[in-house]
Amino acid sequence: PPEVTGRTRLYAILADPIAHVKTPQTMHALFARHGIDGVLVPMHVAPDDLAVTLDGLRGLRNFGGFIATVPHKGAMRDLCDEVSAEAEAIGAVNCVRRDPDGRMIGAMLDGTGFVEGLASEGIDLDGRRVLLAGAGGAASAIAFSVASRGAARLTIANRTVEKAERLAERVRAHYPGLEVSALGSDADPGAQEIVVNATSLGMRPDDPLPVPRSVLERAEVVAEVIMDPVETPLLAAARAAGCRAHPGLPMLERQIELMARHMGALT
Ligand code: NDP
Repeated sequence: PPEVTGRTRLYAILADPIAHVKTPQTMHALFARHGIDGVLVPMHVAPDDLAVTLDGLRGLRNFGGFIATVPHKGAMRDLCDEVSAEAEAIGAVNCVRRDPDGRMIGAMLDGTGFVEGLASEGIDLDGRRVLLAGAGGAASAIAFSVASRGAARLTIANRTVEKAERLAERVRAHYPGLEVSALGSDADPGAQEIVVNATSLGMRPDDPLPVPRSVLERAEVVAEVIMDPVETPLLAAARAAGCRAHPGLPMLERQIELMARHMGALT
């Protein structure tokens, strides 16, 4: 950990459970690269204690902000004093800045991290047909970011088709020009150029593929949100089918920087 003095600014990650989080190490590496005098501490907060924790942090004058992860992203939207338009549309917040007057300003950076992670590998979404597997928290954020990057068509496929339909409806409401459709995860989504897995399938070695194998035959790029394992069964199948495979780690790496900026640690 970095050396802590009376001048060090404080940041945090709030989660329940907390022990598995790797954000302190990743953020400290970024702080070291940029010469930032800050420390990011893990805070184990149960959902019932979230509001009181936030109120306590408002009074902490050397506190710059925090990252919110499972299970706090949804509740955080309603607890912040102000949230970004994107966080409002998605219905979740994963990073909060504490302004000098104690106001808490929320943003949702999962989707931006994902599309910027793709862009860092030269993958552009403009005018592309995108298949998004999943309709949970990560998928919602990615759907809005894919829409904002000018995709030509977005197909959302999910095990629970009603959730895909609700997400498609919300994206359409914000991006009326974009063709958005919703399917069950077993349906044939037709030809797609970019395939994104935003389900939790792939974390275990015996998980089924999140999309029908036939989709991989016609796709160019297959991207993951899962970071562990690095090579999921989907990415292995994508490579075997001749697609470009994009792992989940760049999404996290981009987000760490975006979060440091949102919290005011990095300018
Ligand atoms: P949610 O619980 O909100 O959503 C889970 C999604 O996975 C839903 O679409 C769900 O479908 C689907 N799913 C889960 N189990 C199955 C199954 N057995 N069969 C079919 N579909 C299934 O989780 P999150 O969106 O928060 O997280 C999803 C993944 O994204 C996690 O692995 C997480 O680690 C990763 N992630 C990665 C980030 C990164 O920076 N790389 C950032 C954020 C998340 P249904 O709706 O039918 O339940």
